[in-house]
Amino acid sequence: MSENKKQPDIIIIGGGAAGLSAAQYAARAGLSAHVFEEMAPGGLLLIIDELENYPGFDTPISGFELSDKFAQQAEKFGAVIHYGTVESVTRTEKDSFTVVTSDGTFTVPAVILATGAKRRELGVPGEQEYQGKGVSYCATCDGPFFKAKRMLVVGGGDSACGESLFLSKLSGDIVIVHRKDRFRAQRSIAGMVEHDDHIETRFMHTVNRIIGDGKKITAVSLHDNATNRDYEEPFDAVFIFIGSDPRTKLVPYAEVDEAGYIVTDELMRTSVPGLFAVGDVRNTPFRQVVTAASDGAIAAHAAAEYIDELRGQAYV
Ligand code: NDP
Repeated sequence: MSENKKQPDIIIIGGGAAGLSAAQYAARAGLSAHVFEEMAPGGLLLIIDELENYPGFDTPISGFELSDKFAQQAEKFGAVIHYGTVESVTRTEKDSFTVVTSDGTFTVPAVILATGAKRRELGVPGEQEYQGKGVSYCATCDGPFFKAKRMLVVGGGDSACGESLFLSKLSGDIVIVHRKDRFRAQRSIAGMVEHDDHIETRFMHTVNRIIGDGKKITAVSLHDNATNRDYEEPFDAVFIFIGSDPRTKLVPYAEVDEAGYIVTDELMRTSVPGLFAVGDVRNTPFRQVVTAASDGAIAAHAAAEYIDELRGQAYV
């Protein structure tokens, strides 16, 4: 967009569940809302095979299908989705933000940051070398390549447990290793893993290195913390789900908590007036699609109120 064309009221950075929900609510509140998403809309939703806890969908829906519905609904209300990058977000002295993007430079009174979090890597030898050759961070994407093969899952949260359950539909030979003596995942999902005949659970285990023949994974070296023993075991694939780090680099001036997540109040306001943060990038106590969508709705409502106050209008 050239700079002399009408500017949007609000820019939403990130097109996952939180960002798309914010876009829908902002557009419905009469704001000109522009979303920037680098990849396809959906964010982490895209890699969820089956979502069975999103209210209103009593049969499981795929993350891909749900994100498509989110995007269509936001666009139906007039939100504009750009497939592009945001390069910088600077707050000016005039209560506005200059947002430099691959589609041009915008000046807006409010920004909603919905950039989510980046998946963590283990950092062990062989992990980088075998990415795309057996090391994966997405069971839905890569699991089908290893049908009936022996797969290792690393992690103890909802992702590791949920994705193990997905993989157990493809193979009867899944091992999940977790560094602690119990899963961090919600009890319902953890219980399903522990009772699944296709999954062997090994607590107090860490990965030393991933071994291969140059083209594919052949084995993994594991450490049993309980017995302090190292051993090698054959595997065809390693799926790593050990959490994520918030993407906050566009707003280094916003306050973050000790883990690096953006601090917000109950209206999703950050320490910077006019800057709101939603979803996995903020210090939320529960990271779910439904909480991300809720964050987006609250932020859009609060941002509309903020913009009206700035413009000297009463918000009703
Ligand atoms: P979490 O941060 O919840 O869990 C990460 C797991 O990886 C923890 O068990 C952690 O161990 C382990 N871990 C971290 N670093 C390492 C390491 N270097 N080596 C070995 N293990 C490591 O991440 P998730 O991706 O599982 O979940 C993120 C958020 O998304 C959560 O809030 C979760 O509830 C939500 N989510 C919800 C889903 C659903 O409801 N269907 C599906 C997927 C995610 P430790 O326990 O020791 O810290």
